[in-house]
Amino acid sequence: MNIVCVGGGPAGLYFAVLAKLRNKSHDVTVIERNPAGVTYGWGVVFWDDLLDELYRNDPVSARAVHEVAALWGGQEVHIRGEHKAYLGGYGYSLGRKRLLDILVERARDLGVDVQFERDVRDLSEFPDADLIVACDGVNSSIRQLHSDHFQTDIDVGRNKYIWLGTNRVFDSFTFAFEETAAGWIWFHAYCFDAQTSTLIVECSPETWAGLGFDELEPDQSVKLLEKIFERHLDHSSLINRAPRGVDKAPWLNFRRISNSNWYYDNVALMGDAAHTTHFAIGSGTKLAIADAIALAKELDAHDDLTSVLHAYQENRRSALFTIQQDALNSAKWFEDVPRYIDQQATTQFAYSLWKRRGEYSLWRYQLHLATQIAALRRLRQSVGAARRELRARRRVKLADAHERVSAAMYAE
Ligand SMILES: Cc1cc2nc3c(=O)[nH]c(=O)nc-3n(C[C@H](O)[C@H](O)[C@H](O)COP(=O)(O)OP(=O)(O)OC[C@H]3O[C@@H](n4cnc5c(N)ncnc54)[C@H](O)[C@@H]3O)c2cc1C
Repeated sequence: MNIVCVGGGPAGLYFAVLAKLRNKSHDVTVIERNPAGVTYGWGVVFWDDLLDELYRNDPVSARAVHEVAALWGGQEVHIRGEHKAYLGGYGYSLGRKRLLDILVERARDLGVDVQFERDVRDLSEFPDADLIVACDGVNSSIRQLHSDHFQTDIDVGRNKYIWLGTNRVFDSFTFAFEETAAGWIWFHAYCFDAQTSTLIVECSPETWAGLGFDELEPDQSVKLLEKIFERHLDHSSLINRAPRGVDKAPWLNFRRISNSNWYYDNVALMGDAAHTTHFAIGSGTKLAIADAIALAKELDAHDDLTSVLHAYQENRRSALFTIQQDALNSAKWFEDVPRYIDQQATTQFAYSLWKRRGEYSLWRYQLHLATQIAALRRLRQSVGAARRELRARRRVKLADAHERVSAAMYAE
């Protein structure tokens, strides 16, 4: 089969890897408009569930991802730099560039043709393609070619955000809320290697305009943000990296994308082109990868393309329902921050932040209160670390078994 993936993000690259792994006779091409090694954004977070999936599907790239991923422990909520509350949990994070480098290398090793600096505007460029995967991101131009058929729905979030980096290393996932004369403004930050953290700033449009961001140049915006968040940055700067074609990363409103139909003729939507979930639940990459896994499986399971694409659409649309709802709840919670923050003590506010995706039981609240005590927090962290170890060992065993089976299959 001749397969073309338009877009060399996690969705397109991981699908290319799996399609090739499952059937080496597939002719797979990934086309990316950016030069090699150039991407937007900073680090992304993920959890054990994604690592499990990666190990299950391709232990080689999973190991590479695991090796370079940073581990962050716990979450901290700071209000005005005066009050602090703690939330439990741990997770991983990885720079987007590193993730993409790993996947490009793996895809090329398997024989995928990865082409950079080619901007696809028209599908007539691929008359011989049996399957075209539109994995060209949130603003997918391929999706827009057939938006009537896909029935794309775009909901624009109210808050403004900007995706920055910093050399202040946040070992814990940190939310810091500062009150200004124009209202509340906050960031979400976490490290993704030994020197760098992602730092996403968010605020209401009223605060954004009140602080003058609507008129400031990008560098002036960054200077003002450094001033506002000075006490959290330990003298480090904020870094604004340019996505392609734009001088500096802009302030944006989050765009929630959904599509009633995920395929048209031989074109399938995947990843952010098909759906987006608000960044505050850190799931977009995981979902892009889950799409890739699902399409690769369906490709194996059916003989004709329409059945493949139909099964893929049904499977993924229903899997997404709950998480999109969670993401919406989470985004709405952040839109209501000024209302919650003025009414609640820090511990309650932090708990409300934690349960923003939905309601949780009373014992969760008790655990949250216990976590505010340093000794109990350390105990909770050690239990978490032991469970993480156990899960990692189980995962590696499963991956080894999987690798033996797929090595035999690939050799055939
Ligand atoms: C502020 C922010 C923070 C986030 N944090 C997290 C997080 O912590 N965890 C997480 O899991 N997710 C996070 N996400 C979401 C995550 O980045 C995306 O969901 C994920 O990258 C989607 O992968 P993708 O491959 O579908 O799209 P993308 O990664 O966007 O890749 C699409 C690719 O297609 C290319 N392209 C576009 N048009 C064309 C064209 N015409 N021709 C050729 N190539 C083209 C683009 O250059 C790009 O490389 C975050 C998103 C934002 C905005």
